[in-house]
Amino acid sequence: MSKRKVLISGGAGFIGSHLCDYYIQRECKVWCIDNLCTGSTENIQHLLNLHNFKFIQQDIVSFNIDTFQEKFDMVFHLASPASPPDYFRLPVETLKTNSLGTEKMLEITRRCGAKFLFSSTSEVYGDPLISPQSETYWGNVNPVGPRSVYDEGKRYGESLVMAYHRKYNTDTRIIRIFNTYGERMRIEDGRVIPNFISQILTGKPLTVYGDGKQTRSFCYIEDIIRGIVSMIDTTYHLPVNLGSTYEFTVIQLTEIIQKITGVKATIDFLPPLEDDPKQRRPDISKAKELLNWEPSISLEDGLKRTFLFFRSRIGIGKGEK
Ligand code: UDP
Repeated sequence: MSKRKVLISGGAGFIGSHLCDYYIQRECKVWCIDNLCTGSTENIQHLLNLHNFKFIQQDIVSFNIDTFQEKFDMVFHLASPASPPDYFRLPVETLKTNSLGTEKMLEITRRCGAKFLFSSTSEVYGDPLISPQSETYWGNVNPVGPRSVYDEGKRYGESLVMAYHRKYNTDTRIIRIFNTYGERMRIEDGRVIPNFISQILTGKPLTVYGDGKQTRSFCYIEDIIRGIVSMIDTTYHLPVNLGSTYEFTVIQLTEIIQKITGVKATIDFLPPLEDDPKQRRPDISKAKELLNWEPSISLEDGLKRTFLFFRSRIGIGKGEK
């Protein structure tokens, strides 16, 4: 059937590699570009020898697009550190990937007349003063705080995408991804679910930052991929939230993790992170209306699958050492 050609930046990352799988399974030609600053070839190992998969290990920021003449039907810009410890460690890189990197991906798109999707984030809402957050909320971001490299980087990225759409009529889309989890997150990713699962698996206390009353809504990877691929088929150019609407405190998450794993853990309360959003829950009416999309996997089911993945990874690691 289709031999559509797809370019995915960040294709060796957590979400990107699942997106590569999706299009490979649908007989597309997939080009993955990733500098592996947070991604890993392990995530795309099974694709590397396929004739319709091409991996370019390269930073999109320094990528020479003038000598890159491939034509694509769809371009997905997912490259960026996304875990707070990663973007704290890679602040300038995060800003550059979302600004200069976004511009390069948009230029490739414009040259081919392709469809473009930018993966933005719930972090554009900062520490929100309203809940749930709908796309019409402009957010509450500290522009000079440690999270600003990600928040403002994505806000600039969104602005640039809209500028290309308005000025050049580029066929763009923007999704705002809320907390997502699942297979292929790194054990050392630093986000709350990988941290809690690896702490459970290694018999360590669960680390809770602050009082644990802050909330998040966690969406399983399969649901997010379904949302991303439906979005590319629309002609809607303004941002669309993708995420789960079931909101939990971090303390509740410690309880759920203990329940599904059957392991009793102690809790280590650590100092709060600077500017850590106190609440986060998406209003997904737009995604429901536009894409007929809503998450279908419960947190318990998704966590069970993620736990099995981490257990096999930690098991393998121990055996090798
Ligand atoms: N968090 C925590 N312990 C951890 C990691 C994270 O209590 O070991 C908290 C963090 O402070 C935040 C929430 O869990 O309030 C979600 O953090 P995560 O890093 O997963 O994603 P964020 O939504 O902050 O980008």
